Amino acid sequence: MNNEAKSTQHVKKAILMCTCSFACPSMKDINFGELSERIRLELPHDYMLLHPRLCEENGENLLADLLKDNVLYVTPACKEEKQKKLLRDGFEKAGVKMDNNWKPVSISFKNTETAFNDIKKALEEV
Ligand code: SF4
Repeated sequence: MNNEAKSTQHVKKAILMCTCSFACPSMKDINFGELSERIRLELPHDYMLLHPRLCEENGENLLADLLKDNVLYVTPACKEEKQKKLLRDGFEKAGVKMDNNWKPVSISFKNTETAFNDIKKALEEV
C-alpha cells in the first residue's frame, strides 16, 4: 500500500492523534501527555489535536468539520491498514481525498520514544 500523500500544495501540516480511548493494550507503553508535548516543542507542524476515538461518530463529526484540502494530516493511531478503513468515512464526509491529504503513522505496540521517532520521520517525508 502506498501511504505517501501525493504531492499537492499543502499550506499546513497538522497532526491528528487518535489515543484509542487511552485504553488500547497496544498503546499501553505510550505516555500521550509526554508524547504530545514533545511533538509540540520539537517537531515542525502547524497544529495538533488529540482525540480519543476518531473512528466513531464523534470523531467522524470532528473530521467532517475540520478537514481541509490544503492541509496534510499526519495521523498517529492504529495500524495504517486499519486507519484507512476506519477514517475513510470522516474524510469522505469532509470531501477531502485521503490519497492527497493523509499520512498515517502506526503507533500500535510502540512506546513513547519510538512513537515520537516514527511521527518525526513521517513529518520529514511529507
Ligand atoms: S482509529 Fe484506530 S486508534 Fe483510533 S479509536 Fe479507532 S481503532 Fe483506535
